[in-house]
Amino acid sequence: MNKRPNQDKVQSNLTRIAIVNNDRCKPKNCGLACKKTCPINKQGKQCIVVEATSKIAEISEIMCIGCGMCVRKCPYGAITIINLPSNLEKETTHRYSANSFKLHRLPMPRLGQVLGLVGTNGIGKSTALKILAGVVKPNLGNFQSCPEWPAILQHYRGSDLQNYFTKFLEDKLKVLIKPQYVDQIPRGLKNKEVTVREMLTSKCDRDNFDYAVKELELTNVLDRRVVDLSGGELQRFTIAMVIVQKADVYMFDEPSSYLDVRQRLQAAKVIRDLLRHDNYVIVVEHDLAILDYLSDWVCLLYGSPGAYGVVTMPSGVREGINHFLDGFVPTENMRFR
Ligand code: SF4
Ligand code: SF4
Repeated sequence: MNKRPNQDKVQSNLTRIAIVNNDRCKPKNCGLACKKTCPINKQGKQCIVVEATSKIAEISEIMCIGCGMCVRKCPYGAITIINLPSNLEKETTHRYSANSFKLHRLPMPRLGQVLGLVGTNGIGKSTALKILAGVVKPNLGNFQSCPEWPAILQHYRGSDLQNYFTKFLEDKLKVLIKPQYVDQIPRGLKNKEVTVREMLTSKCDRDNFDYAVKELELTNVLDRRVVDLSGGELQRFTIAMVIVQKADVYMFDEPSSYLDVRQRLQAAKVIRDLLRHDNYVIVVEHDLAILDYLSDWVCLLYGSPGAYGVVTMPSGVREGINHFLDGFVPTENMRFR
């Protein structure tokens, strides 16, 4: 395949994102409609590179002029072209691969405070959590060769993120995440016979077993197998698994799903109770009342689901929630719906 000229040099000036959906793109069956219709390809250039034998089409975001003709011609709806606000060019945090989802900026955790994250699905909340948890190293958009940590720290210099990542690397912070999809937990268990009591006891190192069981209403299911728990029970059990363990960073991805209003408040209370002056608590939550109760600060995430996400600077809780409801971030002069 031909390498496109000056790709690295012009990468920092991009204002356009081209997404090709892995599952939908079928070059074998489509007659390569995108490539045939692209006006840049018609000039003999390689804006869209794809052959019938390719796995997926590749689109050069540098050459693309955003005409949208390929989007309209693709029979499988595999292409999305988005024009980005130009001030985001230098703020790319992570991109998994070419023509895939792109996250701009990161939430900024602060010691001894609960940071709430709010945004629609597919906008990068889970990616942001994985980066802050050290599961994904932020490549600053350079998916071909991820920068080393000194360069990443330099990128975030002067911000709370520099402090966070420095502490993360030097002190080897222990991170615990309550995952979003609790219904998948039973499938991942090696021992299908293990009970709620056995799992909680094996993980508990905070001497708060009784407190967790009482506050999260797990008394009646203590001797039940984890694989037999309902959605709400699994949610409360998973939160309990996190709060009974010592950690430096606690993350909760949608802790209120499957819970009724009273249980949501109880869950919010035990999460809030985790806070110490020297730890971090980060919560992704779609229930705005719970987010309001839980958080000291919030970051909004806006963008286009599956294509790109942008994290706003932290703001006060009421203010952030109102901006989310209004669909407008005044500090960035950005209307997002
Ligand atoms: S993007 Fe659409 S038209 Fe282009 S190769 Fe893939 S399926 Fe075919
Ligand atoms: S949107 Fe870009 S890639 Fe698609 S046809 Fe137009 S110039 Fe080509």
